[in-house]
Amino acid sequence: MSKQTLSFQAEVAQLLKLVTHSLYSNPDIFLRELVSNASDACDKLRFEGLNNAELYEDAPNLEVRVSFDKAAKTLTITDNGIGLSQIEAVEHLGTIAKSGTRDFMAKLSGDQKNDAQLIGQFGVGFYSGFIVADKITVESRRAGLPASEGVRWSSAGTGDFEVETIERAERGTSVILHLKDDAGEYLNTWKLKSIISKYSDHISLPILMKKEAWKEGENDQPGEMIISDEWETVNQAAALWTRAKKDITQEQYDEFYKQISYDSQSPLASTHNRVEGATEYTQLLYIPAKAPMDLFNRDKAAGVKLYVKRVFIMDDAQALLPVYLRFVKGVVDSSDLPLNVSRELLQESRAVKAIREGCTKRVLSMIEDLAANEPEKFAAFYGEFGAVLKEGLGEDFANRERLAKLLRFASSTTDTVSVGFADYKGRMKEGQDAIYYITADTQAAGKNSPQLEIFRKKGIEVLLMTDRVDEWALNYLHEFDGTPLQSVAKGAVDLGKLQDEDEKKAAEEAQTQFKPMLDRLKEALKDKASDVRATTRLVDSPACLVVQEGDMSTQLARMLKQAGQAAPEVKPILEINAQHPLVKKLEGSDHFDDLAHILFDQALLAEGGLPDDPSAYVKRVNALLV
Ligand code: ADP
Repeated sequence: MSKQTLSFQAEVAQLLKLVTHSLYSNPDIFLRELVSNASDACDKLRFEGLNNAELYEDAPNLEVRVSFDKAAKTLTITDNGIGLSQIEAVEHLGTIAKSGTRDFMAKLSGDQKNDAQLIGQFGVGFYSGFIVADKITVESRRAGLPASEGVRWSSAGTGDFEVETIERAERGTSVILHLKDDAGEYLNTWKLKSIISKYSDHISLPILMKKEAWKEGENDQPGEMIISDEWETVNQAAALWTRAKKDITQEQYDEFYKQISYDSQSPLASTHNRVEGATEYTQLLYIPAKAPMDLFNRDKAAGVKLYVKRVFIMDDAQALLPVYLRFVKGVVDSSDLPLNVSRELLQESRAVKAIREGCTKRVLSMIEDLAANEPEKFAAFYGEFGAVLKEGLGEDFANRERLAKLLRFASSTTDTVSVGFADYKGRMKEGQDAIYYITADTQAAGKNSPQLEIFRKKGIEVLLMTDRVDEWALNYLHEFDGTPLQSVAKGAVDLGKLQDEDEKKAAEEAQTQFKPMLDRLKEALKDKASDVRATTRLVDSPACLVVQEGDMSTQLARMLKQAGQAAPEVKPILEINAQHPLVKKLEGSDHFDDLAHILFDQALLAEGGLPDDPSAYVKRVNALLV
């Protein structure tokens, strides 16, 4: 291929503009990004090499070399990994593929200073090189291709780049940065070493630099520092998770997390263990501080990378954790899986099953630990991930009880989402034999709902369930520690021993005394209500809607319909407060039918619903107002 000039994809051009024309809060990160690419390239060779040992050619030891030329003002990062073919150079270096970079692009605000800061935290892969270079040349040859099929790619980071064929004996890639005038500080061994030890210590490959040596001075002149031809390893060259916990600092754990997760914040918590026994593996798992935007997408890529005997196998190994823990990031390295393990094989493997169980337990312990010892962090965790954790009730039967203990809700007496089932039980009234809850669209709607009136009067706490997943999740949890969970909007109100004899009697009498009126109401509302009955549930409101035990709540049915999903037609039961003046007025009224419909529609409004025919409702009310 003779020299060609090609244009960058529009997104790359946009990104480059930002990188080259901004101030950066942390220019050092360019080296982390390029070393990380070099390491990925070696991982890829190792992986492809499993089936094709010839790719190693005559250089079996994978490594990264960092060197500079003071006179030419160049800094070069060379790896002997998989390399790039000519087509790959054009495709991979001319377009944006990495999801992390795309996330980054999505976060850009347009404010230069702000965006530049983001680059410093995030890194934008290969293009970070343009933070310090005004020209980058990449020379590469893909493993397995002849020396005559090398490629040179070069660009000044403006709108286009050049590619041409070159002769290249060595496999792998050299990235040559032609440093900007103000980036001379990177032509310095000490500076480079300190960046490598900060960001790239854990890379499992050796990173080599040329040794510095003192040259003897002549004629009593002081000696000078020269760069020898001898290479030395300047990083630990051991994957972080393979090192002993005691040798790893918090900063190193955090830095590693940021690199694998593309997150700019430190994680909330982490756990690092070597598990021995029937299945042996190492797990290093993190809980992020913030939920990603697509947290509720159950198909989203999982965050755990799988290694087998230190060889990188795959990025988003879904089989390693249940879907409800999809927010966890980290690494699992197993010695019990075959190196050529495929995604399909992972699903079936017994070792993977054991690993998944072990990882799940670890993550739950990590969360339990926060709940027990770090209430603020736990509250932060719960605010971000509480709703997804609830999915576990339906997904992970083995850990259902542990999960139930971790759940928190607001309640009729507590505004913050902080009441666990155990706290609730500890506050139950004498004679109370159920945990009461209500599902609602919002906390305010739940708290003010008519169904709660009797509970408030009796001083009984009711949990407010306002997450979309609550009602679904509660299908899988019928009791907590021996106490049944009872919706206050389903079935007849049963306060059991909390109701005294007089109240029970009054309720029974109401049913018979008002039977004729209840029958008339039932007839008037036969298209809307499945039943009409008198209730002791209400104190201030004239009426409310409930559903049969086991039916879907009207609130969930409404939510499904709004989301365009099929929902069963739930015909609710209208319960009326026979003591209420409006109900009393009903008896001899000339407008019985209109009042009946108003009663029903208002009950619907009170719980956040809308009458089927709002204009008919308005007409009826207006007719009574004039
Ligand atoms: P990312 O590495 O996250 O995918 P980059 O923008 O850093 O994004 O790199 C783009 C692509 O260029 C990489 O996915 C890889 O295919 C290729 N690449 C970059 N550096 C190297 C390298 N040293 N060796 C081989 N391929 C590389």
